[in-house]
Amino acid sequence: MRASAIEKIGQRRVAKEGAGSPTTSSESFGTHVFTRSVMKKMLPKDVYHNVVNAMEGKEQIKPEFADSIAVAMKEWAIEHGATHYSHWFQPLTGATAEKHDAFIDLLSPDQVVERFSGKQLIQGEPDASSFPSGGLRSTYEARGYTGWDPTSPVFVWKAGDGVTLCIPSVFFSWTGDVLDSKIPILRSDKKIRDASLRLLKLTGIQASDVHSTLGMEQEYFVVDRALRDLRPDLIMAGRTVFGAESPKGQELQDHYFGTVKDRILGYMCHFEESALRLGIPLKTRHNEVAPAQHEVAPVFEKAARAVDHNILLMELMRQIALKHDLVCLLHEKPFQGLNGSGKHCNWSLATDRGINLLDPTDTPENNLHFLILLTAILNAVHKHAALLRASVASAGNDFRLGGHEAPPAIFSVYVGDELQRLIDSIEKKQPHVSYKKRKYDLGIELSHLTQDNTDRNRTSPFAFTGNKFEFRALGSSQSGAMFVAIMNVIVAESLHQMLNEIEKGKGANLIESAMPVIRKYLKASKDVRFSGDNYTQEWLKEAKMRKLPNIEKSFYAFDALKAETTIKAFEGVLTQQELESRYEIQVETYVNTLNIEANLMIDICRTQVLPAAVKQQKELAKSLSLCQKVGGRKLPKQLAQLKKLSNTIEETLKRLDALEDAQAKAIKQKSLKAKGKVFCEQVAPKGADLRETVDTLEKIVDDRLWLLPKYRELLFVM
Ligand code: ADP
Ligand code: MG
Repeated sequence: MRASAIEKIGQRRVAKEGAGSPTTSSESFGTHVFTRSVMKKMLPKDVYHNVVNAMEGKEQIKPEFADSIAVAMKEWAIEHGATHYSHWFQPLTGATAEKHDAFIDLLSPDQVVERFSGKQLIQGEPDASSFPSGGLRSTYEARGYTGWDPTSPVFVWKAGDGVTLCIPSVFFSWTGDVLDSKIPILRSDKKIRDASLRLLKLTGIQASDVHSTLGMEQEYFVVDRALRDLRPDLIMAGRTVFGAESPKGQELQDHYFGTVKDRILGYMCHFEESALRLGIPLKTRHNEVAPAQHEVAPVFEKAARAVDHNILLMELMRQIALKHDLVCLLHEKPFQGLNGSGKHCNWSLATDRGINLLDPTDTPENNLHFLILLTAILNAVHKHAALLRASVASAGNDFRLGGHEAPPAIFSVYVGDELQRLIDSIEKKQPHVSYKKRKYDLGIELSHLTQDNTDRNRTSPFAFTGNKFEFRALGSSQSGAMFVAIMNVIVAESLHQMLNEIEKGKGANLIESAMPVIRKYLKASKDVRFSGDNYTQEWLKEAKMRKLPNIEKSFYAFDALKAETTIKAFEGVLTQQELESRYEIQVETYVNTLNIEANLMIDICRTQVLPAAVKQQKELAKSLSLCQKVGGRKLPKQLAQLKKLSNTIEETLKRLDALEDAQAKAIKQKSLKAKGKVFCEQVAPKGADLRETVDTLEKIVDDRLWLLPKYRELLFVM
């Protein structure tokens, strides 16, 4: 089967669909989105203004306008070939959800018309009993409601064969409890807005709105579908639970930024074009470090929209790959021994006038707000490092964090030499921080930062890169929603705390009131700053001395979701109960993932690996005994070969039993927490043990007997 899959791949041609688009990017951009310009043409003036205000979060949709908006949307969608509509939302499964309803309404027994009402637009009521609620909603009160979120644009989805009008929505229970990852972002954005406006007002920078910005660099692997289809683990877990290393891996570093293979380029062009049509501003593509690994990055956007767009992009990438007989792997670690995939989150704050609050060159004459914000961020990350760790916790990301491709689980911040010098001088009360010719002269030329700082330290989990922070710990399959919500609330909290003190300050002017507070918080959060190599053992020791949390296993990271400090920071965004429900859901997902992987290992080992190995053993034994009989010699090397194989089979059986025992023990635990602990401490390590001997078998069993496609094939045959 492996051989015929490879033969099939040899005959594949670059799919036509991806080969160049007839339209330019600017022509196709947003054509599948119900944009302002479409609305302007289709809606009466007052209705149009109401929708635009709602999109900007300034006003609610007026109930009396809902029907005319719905009719316009339906007509526009039907022009695009849509037959159905769907409230598109992000439940806590980490995926997105949609239930499609046709536009049809029965006029008479033999006649239907297309209809879509304002009521259907504004609120949906999916049967939500199977969505996770982490104990917030019992099954008997199963209703969850979706509500149109006008801040995110409506679009038509054409990636599959049908065409659907998608209405971005929030998802909540009938009691009003938040059941999605969208509401927290929207609420957290309001928090950071209020805190930032307070900062800007104090420091004299004009703005009437501030929002968080986000640009996510998405890494992924692409393999051929024919080979993937022969790997139950890739199909079901998205990663290989077994697989000996390939003779060639990433050591030559010849893949990073290398020429993209034709078939892959065709695929990239295809999903990029679809993404542009959905208004996703994709900009960058390149090969990544590991063979078959790539990256795609958009131009940054408002954070909530960027999160939506990233989720849509991942779905496009998955669906369109299949049209090219490819499979897109978004798992954090599809292949052991090679780099895993992350999703770098570039985060900043911007005003409605386009000033980037983390870019000192945007306001060269006045940088005080920058310094206060920077200090607030350092303080927030220091205080809430464990919570940030929780935002990237997952069974998949555990294989990646602390490996050589990703920062360890210690959340330090890199600020760069230039800022470090500034911070040092402030801490030491050096005189050059003075109130001089500029509005707030910090006595240092911050305008170099952008060029100077960019990417000096690639090992830091959280690096200031000149005009934004880059958070590198998120896994490739994870949503950026929780990270954004956390950043927004913890920075808002920290800003308010500092501003309270600055406003109470008794200095002769603002800078004299602000400096002592800045100094105090810089000192208090000093331990979180680290500019050395985060991948070294010395840093692990150093971080321990600094008492920075180092939560290696995700299972233990989830606890931070329920911590006192988290509940406080999330006030007005998520309640204690809602945070607890998130904890439950995360642990449950973690347990289920490890259980599925254990099932896969047991199944593949018993039904594919061992039968091949035993066959090989029989062949060797037969040949050896025959040769010994005929030749009358002992043939020690061949005997040793047979012994090695037999011993490895024996050991594999032993380890298989151990894994099954651990799994049975885990499942028997009464509480979710106890289950998680046994999966983390016992099942996962037993799985790793089993993998070791199975991978040894792969290297000694006859290649023709081995059923699972090998790394060298998955990664290099295209
Ligand atoms: P790399 O990290 O690979 O060197 P860049 O740093 O140039 O790449 O860009 C990474 C991402 O950061 C891009 O998506 C870019 O749009 C985004 N980005 C740039 N400026 C900002 C900002 N002010 N806020 C959020 N994201 C930003
Ligand atoms: Mg980057």
